[in-house]
Amino acid sequence: MKTFDYVAATSADAAVERLGSDPDARILAGGTNLVDLMKLGVVEPETLIDIGSLPLDEISNADGGGLRIGATVRNSDLAAHPLVRTRYPVLSKALLAGASGQLRNMATTGGNLFQRTRCGYFMDTGKACNKRDPGSGCSAINGINRDMAVLGASDACVATHPSDMAVAMAVLEPELDVLGPTGRRTVAFNDFYRLPGEHPEFDNTLGRDDLVTALTIPPLPAARSSTYRKVRDRASYAFALVSVAAILTVDDGHVSAVRIALGSVAHKPWRATGAEAALLGRPALRSEFAAAMDRELTTAEPLSDNAFKIGLVKSVATQTLVELAAAEGRR
Ligand SMILES: Cc1cc2nc3c(=O)[nH]c(=O)nc-3n(C[C@H](O)[C@H](O)[C@H](O)COP(=O)(O)OP(=O)(O)OC[C@H]3O[C@@H](n4cnc5c(N)ncnc54)[C@H](O)[C@@H]3O)c2cc1C
Repeated sequence: MKTFDYVAATSADAAVERLGSDPDARILAGGTNLVDLMKLGVVEPETLIDIGSLPLDEISNADGGGLRIGATVRNSDLAAHPLVRTRYPVLSKALLAGASGQLRNMATTGGNLFQRTRCGYFMDTGKACNKRDPGSGCSAINGINRDMAVLGASDACVATHPSDMAVAMAVLEPELDVLGPTGRRTVAFNDFYRLPGEHPEFDNTLGRDDLVTALTIPPLPAARSSTYRKVRDRASYAFALVSVAAILTVDDGHVSAVRIALGSVAHKPWRATGAEAALLGRPALRSEFAAAMDRELTTAEPLSDNAFKIGLVKSVATQTLVELAAAEGRR
């Protein structure tokens, strides 16, 4: 592993100032992704700026029944928080579906958002990868591509985003508080991630010298009826093959609110807006859920080894909505 300097940030402003003055500096939060990638030689920062002792680890009520989550709140603390479990069960379930107890004790909310893809070619410095080394090519397109994207990919990159938490966030639509070289601003979650296009080296729309300090989830009463379902090769401690975050409310047998996001099928959590539009006001029936997912997936394009993901994500989303509808009926 290449040697590096370690700096404990004394304030968020000082961290951003250091990021601005040192192009090879990176933020260190829990370190569970960044340090692994450093050991593999995938990233080689000169300086790590540790934000672990900054006062960014609070979870608090936000205006009108929303929730503000500091960037260094640990995944385990967020999953267990009573307000998360009651107001936004989808978030608690997504967090608990990720990694292991030990990792969740270290991993932070901010770090989870910024974790890099688990594409094997990205993590292997001996292989061409446009995300790691722009212009070098994509080994995955014609390589081992079972885990790769079926939606929104490009000729330059077919990697998926691996986070479970971020799929839940996609239906909760938080705002990110960002501190950058020109001061503070907010960024809508659904404007944060991007598709790969010609520049897969950029996972998101923020600058290299931006620090996320907090996320604020708006009040969302419908989210009390929400859940997360993940399908993976092993029952635990594995990244998703596909996953679904969903919010569903039903009035008089008809869908009154619905939000759906799909995980591990694209370069970003995939908000299924086509399916949502098809379902609103329709009878809350399995046949309607399945038809809406077919509509969402018309643009899906499989690679040689991952066509199964299209049918799998349709089934998982349909069943998830059926179960949410049934639970609504029992209320
Ligand atoms: C064995 C293993 C299994 C795993 N399984 C899963 C799984 O099933 N599901 C899942 O979702 N995840 C899984 N993970 C990934 C894990 O969730 C992430 O490693 C973790 O969430 C990253 O958080 P961190 O605080 O450790 O980030 P770090 O590793 O410290 O940082 C990650 C990146 O985020 C940047 N960063 C951190 N905080 C900020 C901030 N506030 N502002 C701007 N940039 C920031 C860093 O510079 C770095 O680039 C697994 C990890 C491992 C090692």
